[in-house]
Amino acid sequence: MSVIRRNPITGRWVIFSDEAGPPPPTDGRCPFCEGNEALTPHEIIAWGRDGREHDSEGWSVRVVPNAHPLLRIESRLELFAEGMYDAASGTGAHEVIIETPEHKRSLAELPRDQVARVLAAYAERINDLKGDKRFRCIFIFKNQGAEAGAGLPGHAHSQVIGLPVTPKAFKEILVGARQHFLIKERCVFCDILQEEMDMGARLVEVTEHFAALEPYASRHPFETWILPRRHGPDFEAVTDAERDDLAGLLISVLGRLEKVLPRPAYNLFLYSGPNRKTNPDRWKTLAADFHWHIEILPRLFYEAGFEVGSGLFANAVTPETAAKVLREAERPL
Ligand SMILES: [Zn+2]
Ligand SMILES: [Zn+2]
Repeated sequence: MSVIRRNPITGRWVIFSDEAGPPPPTDGRCPFCEGNEALTPHEIIAWGRDGREHDSEGWSVRVVPNAHPLLRIESRLELFAEGMYDAASGTGAHEVIIETPEHKRSLAELPRDQVARVLAAYAERINDLKGDKRFRCIFIFKNQGAEAGAGLPGHAHSQVIGLPVTPKAFKEILVGARQHFLIKERCVFCDILQEEMDMGARLVEVTEHFAALEPYASRHPFETWILPRRHGPDFEAVTDAERDDLAGLLISVLGRLEKVLPRPAYNLFLYSGPNRKTNPDRWKTLAADFHWHIEILPRLFYEAGFEVGSGLFANAVTPETAAKVLREAERPL
């Protein structure tokens, strides 16, 4: 069983999990490779050829429960106090999206229609988990490379986590966006898009539906954001045309980063709006003030003591320089 505890000073939630035992024996076989379906828990969804049986070969994208979940979906959600402290049962979803049946290819090396299918799996899982009132927010993230915390196997995958609490970093974004909206009656992300499109110096690439840019106060060298040009709070509401456009841009942006960086290790986060079915009163203006987006954080080095202790980042590469380097690193498709 796991439990989630809240730091009463900072409001930061911490998951304590005793689930992480030794991995099940796989005889050195990769559990995410086609043909090894029996090595994972039963699949949640999979897209493949007609007539394919569950947990068998013939799929292109496959979603399975994490074999070592941080949180348990079958447990009842309990919010409770321990003396002066707040805690929650370790209730949540923890899934793996296997992006390709092939072992050797990274997301950026996959064909565009395959990346679009991965994005469709993201949308389907967010949609499904938002139907569960226990979960306040659903995160999709991806760790690539050992420096970014990617565990074995080195097979392209993303993770889905549905949480009964709102993590501090996400709450900061939501509250900051709402503050901007309450003062200016405009979405802060739409304002950033307008400013960056006018200025141009921090843009990496602009497509019909999206813009990739280096944010004004980037925390790490080559931190890159992908913003949809159409305002909307929820990723899962994107159209097929937008998803296809995003797949092409993601391949291009990750390809540029992989060309420029010595080791292509990065974390990718998808920030979609929180679940308004839980606590509808809390997010009254969210549809107007929040703008779903992707943040990619290349990991060139570990955070140093100063960053960990102060939360203030020191970055040796300005976003203007990073954008120029990435614009020039266009990789032929
Ligand atoms: Zn594999
Ligand atoms: Zn917006």
